Amino acid sequence: MSAKKPVNRLTTAFGIPVGDDQNSLTAGARGPVLMQDVHLLEKLGHFDRERIPERVVHAKGAGAGGYFEVTADVTKYTKAKFLSKVGKRTEVFVRFSTVGGEKGSADSERDPRGFAVKFYTEEGNYDMVGNNTPVFFIRDPLKFSDFIHTQKRNPATNCKDPDMFWDFLSLTPESIHQVTILFSDRGTPAAYRNMNGYSSHTYKWYNEKGDYSWVQYHFKTDQKIKNLTRQEADALKSKDPDHATRDLYEAIKREEYPSWTLEMQILTPKQAENFKWDILDITKIWPHKEVPPIKIGKLVLNRNPLNYFAEVEQAAFSPGNLVPGIAASPDKMLQARLFSYHDTHIHRLGPNYHLLPVNAPKNAPETSYQRDGFMRFDTNGGGGPNYWPNSFNGPEPDLSALEPPFEISGYADRYQYKYPNDDFVQAGNLYRDVMSDQDRENLVGNIVSHLGGALKRIQLRQTALFFKADSDYGTRVAAGLGLDIKEVERLAGMSNEERAKAAS
Ligand code: NDP
Repeated sequence: MSAKKPVNRLTTAFGIPVGDDQNSLTAGARGPVLMQDVHLLEKLGHFDRERIPERVVHAKGAGAGGYFEVTADVTKYTKAKFLSKVGKRTEVFVRFSTVGGEKGSADSERDPRGFAVKFYTEEGNYDMVGNNTPVFFIRDPLKFSDFIHTQKRNPATNCKDPDMFWDFLSLTPESIHQVTILFSDRGTPAAYRNMNGYSSHTYKWYNEKGDYSWVQYHFKTDQKIKNLTRQEADALKSKDPDHATRDLYEAIKREEYPSWTLEMQILTPKQAENFKWDILDITKIWPHKEVPPIKIGKLVLNRNPLNYFAEVEQAAFSPGNLVPGIAASPDKMLQARLFSYHDTHIHRLGPNYHLLPVNAPKNAPETSYQRDGFMRFDTNGGGGPNYWPNSFNGPEPDLSALEPPFEISGYADRYQYKYPNDDFVQAGNLYRDVMSDQDRENLVGNIVSHLGGALKRIQLRQTALFFKADSDYGTRVAAGLGLDIKEVERLAGMSNEERAKAAS
């Protein structure tokens, strides 16, 4: 140990120089340790509090910074400033994730993948919080926490449980479209760089005149879609459980910057009224032929985080962060997410999580009347007024930021979804018209290997749903599971309520 003053001197958290970081302060050479060793106490105390609550969903993820560049004029659809000019660039931070697994789970698990983009715009942060699938399992948020419980662990055994998983899905027929995507090889992307990102929800865009359109976002990978087979995904779980995290980091380090082309599907309110599909139903897509996507921009990731915890773990996205020109639709799932994301971040990171550098609105400083709370580490509004209205030059609301008024009507009630019979059509189209023979073979194999672990009656009920989507689909799953196809057909012929009772 040199007596020379080090250039880069170790300090306590409070900047006090530390003289020795290897030997605790003890009474005599053999101890005990003295409470006077405040450096040791500080180290232990901080270490004890290193973990923050992990996200209840999307716990395992990877992230990177970059930019979004506008490539087409969309001003007739939206007045969002960051989309106002071809060539305009906006800084972004993106987080990819799996959904059901814990923070230490494998990147190659079969699961939808999160695809969340934070745009640091001059009108505040805009978050597009999507997935790598264009649809979702359910369309009513009352079912969400139940659904997630079934993807996690059995309350008694603490193990993943195929009975829970398939019991819920087989009693939730609207899930069939998403289940078909999830059990195709798209449920195990080769890397985050090789998958698309979708808003899944419909959003509203409105222009300077206040005219609005309904829109869906599709970030299409420029690296081409690449997936893992079930066997490859299983092998990676033990060989390299962090393969997708590593792939993203290393590609950016090699300066092979991944990019995605943003395509929009856009419908006028009139077109939406007469559209075959309910545009507020997140279990459905808008067929490309009927609503051709328009290329409008490029997303490029070219910066690795300097520190994973600071930027990726603390990154907090919320579909409620919408800038003028972009608004929510009445999609019930989206409406619940508008509340839930912000709420969960307050729980996970505290009420001032918006001050953390990754979450702070870099290009539009916060000028609100919110004050105090844990970890308010900025000047907290200084001596300025902390109420509105005031006559001391405090920040004022800007009428031009208001979404144009929109009409809503109807009786308050708990409405059952009114097009239940349509739930199987798009899953059937995907199976018949989009998938190759190899895709179908892998899909059936993936389902059989997972559903095979569930109780027979649950297998029957779920296979009846595959049969309803497409008879060949159901027949092949039934054959793989060794089920009586007559029984599958009988269940497929029943209403959802009858089937639930018959196979209980
Ligand atoms: P298209 O033939 O125009 O589009 C088919 C789409 O399916 C393409 O976007 C393709 O993505 C995607 N795809 C290919 N394989 C799979 C898979 N295993 N899982 C999920 N998606 C896959 O047809 P339509 O627009 O009429 O849609 C037909 C079906 O395709 C839908 O019912 C839906 O299941 C699926 N789909 C449709 C999307 C849409 O927004 N219209 C988006 C994604 C899927 P890519 O071009 O990237 O290869």
